[in-house]
Amino acid sequence: MTGVLLAIGTFLLMEPLTALIHRFVFHGFGMGWHRSHHEPPRRALEANDLFPVVFSSATIALLSIGVWVGGRSILVPLGVGITAYGATYLVVHDLVIHRRVPWLRIPDRVGRQLRTAHNVHHLYSRAPYGFIAPVVPRDLRARAAARGIDQTPRAITERCPG
Ligand SMILES: [Zn+2]
Ligand SMILES: [Zn+2]
Repeated sequence: MTGVLLAIGTFLLMEPLTALIHRFVFHGFGMGWHRSHHEPPRRALEANDLFPVVFSSATIALLSIGVWVGGRSILVPLGVGITAYGATYLVVHDLVIHRRVPWLRIPDRVGRQLRTAHNVHHLYSRAPYGFIAPVVPRDLRARAAARGIDQTPRAITERCPG
């Protein structure tokens, strides 16, 4: 039972932690990779996709230590919570918000609020930095609504027809 609670707690903590990493790492020294996600998409994969490779590798290492090294089993529920967040992030950010898989037809109403919130980040490269529970500054939300531009679609076929 403790393990389940630890996994759920880790999952919940991952959102504010991810927002901080997005703010201070991606928009800091990690901008070399992250910039590709803020420019118009040119290829199916972008340099920014290297971040999930790094984070999932670290999580696999964490889980491996938890499973194979004695006295480190507490790392397993932490790894499970992080993995669950990563999977949720993939679905919410890449599939629902950015629609990176063009043949996966997602109805417009699904995740509309999250897409609107994340669009504010793409328009101004400022808050919200979170993905699943984004905190959008009121003034930026109003400015984005007035501009009426949706910069979230990242499927290549939608941006470059033919
Ligand atoms: Zn994005
Ligand atoms: Zn960003």
